[in-house]
Amino acid sequence: MQQLTVYNSLSGKKEVFTPITKEYVGMYVCGPTVYSNVHLGNCRTFISFDIIFRYLKHLGFKVRYVRNITDAGHLENDADEGEDRIAKKARLESIEPMEVVQRYTVDFHETLAKFNNLPPSIEPTATGHIIEQIEIIKSILEKGFAYKINGSVYFDVLKYNETNNYGKLSGRKIENLVHNTRSLDGQSDKKNPQDFALWKKAEPKHIMRWPSPWSDGFPGWHLECTAMSTKYLGNQFDIHGGGMDLKFPHHECEIAQAECITKQTPVNYWLHANMLTLNGKKMAKSTGNNILPEEMFSGKNSIFTKSFSPEVVRFFLLQAHYRSIVDLSQDALLASEKGFNKLKEGLLLLKQLTHSTETKGFDFVQWEEQSYKAMNDDFNSPMLIAQLFEAVRFINLVNNGSASISKSDQLKLAQKMKIFVEDIMGISFGKSKQSDVSTALEGTVNMLIDFRKITRDNKDFVTSDRIRDELSALGIQLNDEKDGTTFSI
Ligand code: AMP
Ligand code: ZN
Repeated sequence: MQQLTVYNSLSGKKEVFTPITKEYVGMYVCGPTVYSNVHLGNCRTFISFDIIFRYLKHLGFKVRYVRNITDAGHLENDADEGEDRIAKKARLESIEPMEVVQRYTVDFHETLAKFNNLPPSIEPTATGHIIEQIEIIKSILEKGFAYKINGSVYFDVLKYNETNNYGKLSGRKIENLVHNTRSLDGQSDKKNPQDFALWKKAEPKHIMRWPSPWSDGFPGWHLECTAMSTKYLGNQFDIHGGGMDLKFPHHECEIAQAECITKQTPVNYWLHANMLTLNGKKMAKSTGNNILPEEMFSGKNSIFTKSFSPEVVRFFLLQAHYRSIVDLSQDALLASEKGFNKLKEGLLLLKQLTHSTETKGFDFVQWEEQSYKAMNDDFNSPMLIAQLFEAVRFINLVNNGSASISKSDQLKLAQKMKIFVEDIMGISFGKSKQSDVSTALEGTVNMLIDFRKITRDNKDFVTSDRIRDELSALGIQLNDEKDGTTFSI
């Protein structure tokens, strides 16, 4: 088996993936700020990491996948100014901030479930880890890399940079940052504009506040991920991910915070998913240049003239490598829909093929090797999809008599296609878990109806009545009609 290589944003090159321990792979991905519905751009990042999670598991790694929910501390502006995004939404709608959090956390989960994403292993919240964040601030203060001012605490970037390299992830140079950052307007407590908040004193009208040694206030956004990643994965862990836009300042600041306390580099592999664009511009909540997944599934939007199912949208996203920019357009989606249907039909056809004594026209071993090679090359899903279409081409050739497949190869191919399509790419062909359960229930009740008929034919009315009564107690009514028995729930 070839080795898995991943592109590490920290070194700027592909590296062989070697986990720290044999026990598990620790993976942390920055979750959403839950102040509005997730748009398709957000989903792209979470689907990219779902593929990474699925593939690592497929390779046999035990993965502890931690993805947080940002429910406090994310201000409107990266310069630590403006209102807290969640508190602002609560104020505009005259509801509790936690109602905002609940509403959009539910939306986030429901949307990702429609895309068939697997849930993470742990999903901690920023508000659930205020104590841990306060402890980290105390430790950074003790080490001399932060300063207190008027009830707030700021990270001293220049001080940190004397002994460390601020900018190592994003490739920014401190001199340029100092030069280019907007100068302070006299309102800010910061010593230098590139410093960032660890704790902010809350204004009297600010609702989301917690007591701390410095003031009643709230933590800075970057701190929550340091607190939650180290709490659940340790001071050094394997993979940290998020969208490309989080590289700076969010992830750069996370590295700085963690290095101050532990003197260790916190993360071995930094992985970043690239942006989904609409009309050539980044999809974003704040600018309104976005589309919600639900608007795509229902077709109720002013961008596309037809609806697209979650499976087709997922397939469309996976047709690009996670590090490439993808632009959303009707033509591209239509092409993906066509490809998706071709794959679906190919898989159905595979089960129905007439097999021969031997396989001709397909090198199964090489095909499998190339498929793994694609995924081992930094999770190259478009290359894997090309391999899947290679298999579909062969299936069609067998169907029209230009190639042949043996029974064992047919089984092997069906099994491998299932692994690549369903387990690794998470494509379900419209079969949700819910519909699996309904099909299983329907089959079970019909089996009991048949069984009841046998008992009645044998004049075993005690058993036949028992079947009817027990189903009735479960809320399933049997209706005996002249053509047979039907049921209703
Ligand atoms: P947010 O809720 O804005 O913090 O974003 C949640 C995740 O979505 C982060 O990892 C972002 O990097 C990612 N994200 C935001 N906008 C886009 C986009 N247009 N394309 C891809 N990922 C995005
Ligand atoms: Zn984060």
